[in-house]
Amino acid sequence: MCSKIGSPRRVVLADIRAPDGEQLDKGMVVWFPAPESYTGEDSAELHLHGSRAILADVFSSLSAIEGLRLAEAGEFTMRAFQNGKVDLTGAEALADLIEAETSEQRRFAAFNAGRAHDELYERWRSVIIATLAEMTAMIDFADEADVEDRADVRNTKVLQSLIDEIDSHMERYKAGKIIRDGFKVAIVGEPNVGKSSLLNALAGRDVAIVTNVPGTTRDVLEVALDLNGRKVIVYDTAGIRQSNDPVEEIGIDRARQTAEHADLVLWLCDVRQPESAVRMPDMETPVLRVGNKQDLIEGQPVEDMNVLVSAKTHCGLDRLVDVLANAAEDAGGLPDVVPFRQRHVDLLKNARQALVDACLADGLPVEFRAEALRLAAESLGRISGRVDVEDLLDVVFSRFCIGK
Ligand code: GDP
Repeated sequence: MCSKIGSPRRVVLADIRAPDGEQLDKGMVVWFPAPESYTGEDSAELHLHGSRAILADVFSSLSAIEGLRLAEAGEFTMRAFQNGKVDLTGAEALADLIEAETSEQRRFAAFNAGRAHDELYERWRSVIIATLAEMTAMIDFADEADVEDRADVRNTKVLQSLIDEIDSHMERYKAGKIIRDGFKVAIVGEPNVGKSSLLNALAGRDVAIVTNVPGTTRDVLEVALDLNGRKVIVYDTAGIRQSNDPVEEIGIDRARQTAEHADLVLWLCDVRQPESAVRMPDMETPVLRVGNKQDLIEGQPVEDMNVLVSAKTHCGLDRLVDVLANAAEDAGGLPDVVPFRQRHVDLLKNARQALVDACLADGLPVEFRAEALRLAAESLGRISGRVDVEDLLDVVFSRFCIGK
């Protein structure tokens, strides 16, 4: 179909023709012979003028070629994985990179697409495999009880410090989740303090119903914002007050739940009534007290407020945005090697449990503890997609062939 093909990985300008010779487009063509391509297989790229007609005709010419079909979703990356071009965490990070909405998400995903995760899990796995190799040797030399005891104490120490490392690694999952999913901020307060108005002001467009009839925001509205490069999701909730209306009560209940699941609550008050009629519900979520309608009390001091704003005039809004962006940064932190999928955490938990079993199985025959270690190594290997047992056997047999 192409009038010319350049040398490998060199772009050339070529005519793109249908099988019957009709010229469909003139565009750039690149040829990537295996293994130096994204997937590791022979690949070609056509850079076309993207009109629907050109795409339709080029695709139909391509599909007339025997054995050629459209790739399925993720198939290129799956083949790259199968050909060892990318590990599983790398492939997941690529998916995140494609979906990144904010600079911080892009940075985090780009970092995760590197080899840092694989290197960390491989380091842990090699510690486990070395310990396992030693234990396996014990199975063969069980009569040398003295050697066994000393090795046991040493192994338990090594495994214990590995468990601690895995624990602190898992604890940072939340930080990564905040970067990926967004820092959740719930605006909570009594009816009519200006919650919907504040959400609109933050969003810079009308997303919530602004009205002076109390109790109109019965469901939870949310907007995802890009605040200084960070994804922040702001929820507007129903005003919290005593109510006899069952629909409103459901709204109030949802507001409480939203507040509990948020990373930060903005407890919004009308600056003219800083002492709210209803008490702020007790919750574990950190709270920022925000006084709204500052324009109505120009200049007068207000106590007990972290930030003063006017959702109407937007006065104080920049400061609130800074405070929110900083809170999001503190919660998310800088990109580092942290688990960034529930799948990673699940496998880390399995590995941790198996390590605990291997350490605690006091009195259990060494064979059982070795099996627990094998499971731990396998769980870690699954995170980046290495589940070979072959390499484990290699270490076991190459390092401990004491005259056997
Ligand atoms: P919500 O029930 O807490 O969501 O409150 P709304 O956002 O619906 O606002 C209730 C009323 O307060 C509306 O009439 C708004 O126009 C008004 N309001 C909201 N924020 C301000 C503000 O900063 N200054 C003034 N003067 N009025 C405001």
